[in-house]
Amino acid sequence: MNTGNTALAVNASSLRPLSDRVLLNLVDGVVTVDRSLAILNCNRAALRLLERDSSPLLLSGLITDPALLADASEAAISGRQFETLSPWGERFYRFHFQPLLGEIDEKLGAVIVISDVTHLKKLENMRREFVANVSHELKTPVTAIIGFLDTLLSGAVTDPAGRRRYLEIISRQAHRLQKLVSDLLQLSRLEQDLESDRIELVEERIHEILTSASELCELRIQEKQIKVRIECDRSLIIPVNVSLLEQALVNLIDNAITYSPNGSTIEIASAVNRKRLRIEVKDAGAGIPEEHLPRLFERFYRVDKGRSRELGGTGLGLSIVKHAAIAHGGAVWAESTLGSGARFIIEIPSAGVSP
Ligand code: ADP
Repeated sequence: MNTGNTALAVNASSLRPLSDRVLLNLVDGVVTVDRSLAILNCNRAALRLLERDSSPLLLSGLITDPALLADASEAAISGRQFETLSPWGERFYRFHFQPLLGEIDEKLGAVIVISDVTHLKKLENMRREFVANVSHELKTPVTAIIGFLDTLLSGAVTDPAGRRRYLEIISRQAHRLQKLVSDLLQLSRLEQDLESDRIELVEERIHEILTSASELCELRIQEKQIKVRIECDRSLIIPVNVSLLEQALVNLIDNAITYSPNGSTIEIASAVNRKRLRIEVKDAGAGIPEEHLPRLFERFYRVDKGRSRELGGTGLGLSIVKHAAIAHGGAVWAESTLGSGARFIIEIPSAGVSP
């Protein structure tokens, strides 16, 4: 009697139920087929992912895409191992094909592992879109700066007034570039801090934060002769991250100034209600059409692209506000009807972020 073999056999049989259980409970779908693509085994996840109630006899009853069936045949017959990404209705699946080998490496069929990679695909698309947006935003001022500089250097502009006008355009575009880079850096720092939970909250007087945010916008407030009304109990003290909240408010006030007529009033109000601190910035500008409201906080989203750029906007201000609100465990949203101003509301827990 070969005790070594018996031990192996005992171990193998005691492992079998466990491997079956693992297969059954796997989030990835696993389908095993023979060389003629008849199904040998199919776990629960595969049926769920491929939207079937029970396993058919043939792989073609589970997967109808001829390209995927050809892939399965190739793995079963040639013994090659590879991956295919394929849309599945609204979702995106990764099909991993590998040969099913016997004891002496003979090709018995194929093992197909199916993973739902919809979220990864979405992230990849978002990253690609973001890089495309950033490049596009950077390209416009860089092209303008180079174009006007080349014209100046070629001596084409001889009159001092023309030269000055070109230099002013270059300066404006360079400032826009600087604002864009600084907003991007701020956004990426915020994202990193959020990921690593590095947001520090300290008890602060909210009235002071509202006032200092408004003071930071003083130059533009004066330029447009805008009145700012602050309504907030001076004794209100809440744990917040001052610089983040102040930056969020500066962005909201700055937008309110940008999109309001000269001489109008901006109202900033804050109070605690049901253990939540609510801060509102309300302007008397043209307002925002309702269909744009849900998307305003996306990076580079603008209601009127041309107008925002003309006014020196980067399209990142509200995205920074959103991250600042999230960093406090809260949210931000906008309410507006066209023609009657816009109201931006930040709401955060008044006892800070719960641990
Ligand atoms: P921008 O730099 O373009 O202002 P933001 O992210 O701050 O970028 O704002 C996104 C868009 O939301 C703006 O382009 C503008 O169309 C709209 N918006 C923001 N605030 C207001 C407001 N107070 N009134 C009207 N429209 C606004």
